[in-house]
Amino acid sequence: MISVEEALARILSFVDVLEPETRPILDCLGQVLAEDVRSGIDVPPLANSAMDGYAVQASDTIGANANNPRIVRVIGELPAGHWTDDVVQSGTAIRIMTGAPVPHGADAVVQFEQTDEQARKAQGGAIGTVAIYKAAEIGQNIRSAGEDISRGQMVLSRGTALRPAEIGVLASLGFATVQVIRRPRVAILATGDELVMPGQPLPPAKIYDSNTYTIAALVQRYGGIPVILGIAEDRREELSQKIGEGRKADLLLTSAGVSMGDYDIVKEVLAMEGEISFWTVRMKPGKPIAFGTLTATSETGQARRVPHLGLPGNPVSTMVAFEQFARPSILKMLGRTTLAKPTIKAVLAEPIENRDSRRFFARAMVSRENGTFIARLTGPQGSGILTSMALANGLVVVPEDRQRMEAGSLVDVQMLDWPEDVATE
Ligand code: AMP
Ligand code: MG
Repeated sequence: MISVEEALARILSFVDVLEPETRPILDCLGQVLAEDVRSGIDVPPLANSAMDGYAVQASDTIGANANNPRIVRVIGELPAGHWTDDVVQSGTAIRIMTGAPVPHGADAVVQFEQTDEQARKAQGGAIGTVAIYKAAEIGQNIRSAGEDISRGQMVLSRGTALRPAEIGVLASLGFATVQVIRRPRVAILATGDELVMPGQPLPPAKIYDSNTYTIAALVQRYGGIPVILGIAEDRREELSQKIGEGRKADLLLTSAGVSMGDYDIVKEVLAMEGEISFWTVRMKPGKPIAFGTLTATSETGQARRVPHLGLPGNPVSTMVAFEQFARPSILKMLGRTTLAKPTIKAVLAEPIENRDSRRFFARAMVSRENGTFIARLTGPQGSGILTSMALANGLVVVPEDRQRMEAGSLVDVQMLDWPEDVATE
């Protein structure tokens, strides 16, 4: 038996960061920048008003208060998105909207609330003057040019994973496309004579294929592109043909056929197509996994190796093994450097037995109670009970050398949904 860490290290040693591609920015959520991004412009490009109000010369407002307003003449109006060549001279003001560029001559904006704007409005704004009730400071309510980003500034560096904020920053710089590490295409193949696709009638002795769907959804969630190869019955030619299709991908994930007793055909076929080894990993669920490489030819005619991960067939085992091994592989291909699952400390609500010296990933629902994370198991933990995953938001990690963890003990929990979906009371 090998440890989870050893299995992962071996797998990752066959996984490479993929090449860059240029994509529309909105397609790049979760992808990693393959270039440094510098700004060609100031953001904002011009000094502009942070308030709806009057652009004035601050010196005209010295000593102003409610009883003793300063009256200035309104010489124009300026909505956002428009420029005026009119100059604010002493004794004058331009009515200005939020985001509009501050006209020449003005050095402050007095917000409407500090003027007689209400009364002016009541009269249709026809009055040619405005009363200012409060002295303005120079620069007040003015956002300077380049306040956010200045021209030439290095804004986002290569290696940054793009979140909504970074995508917004790219847009604010005027980028429609950007260079990122491309997404891996992950081929998914379910194996087993018993499998039927959802949407079909269910003949006796058959079950619906759920692994294809959990795997494809996980691939999507972690930034890969799922390529569904379908179901291969346990026959040589069919398996061989379907596995062959996996060569076009960056990673092949198969499910089932790797446990004792029935993996002979899968093993045989995989051995013909490339290299394969079968591992017993010191974990539960998900103990038997297969790992190998298929030999393939790249578009440029070069030989390349497509890593293949054979996940166990039981629906929970498939998902748990995916989280431990396939997720970090996908993230590595994407150019991510943080590969570990987000993990928190929580207090166990009930004891957990772990008698067979394997690392036990127990399905749990974590909630926050009185400021503490509490982990409760989601009922029966059989590896065929997929609803135990549906009820869980985390995996309690019971170390291989712990035979029992008492209620009240502090445990590591790998969060499946993190962090926005953790319930708080
Ligand atoms: P195996 O690894 O082939 O021995 O399969 C282990 C268990 O997982 C068996 O009960 C299979 O019926 C079940 N299983 C295998 N593949 C799938 C699948 N794609 N969807 C749901 N269950 C599966
Ligand atoms: Mg089988």
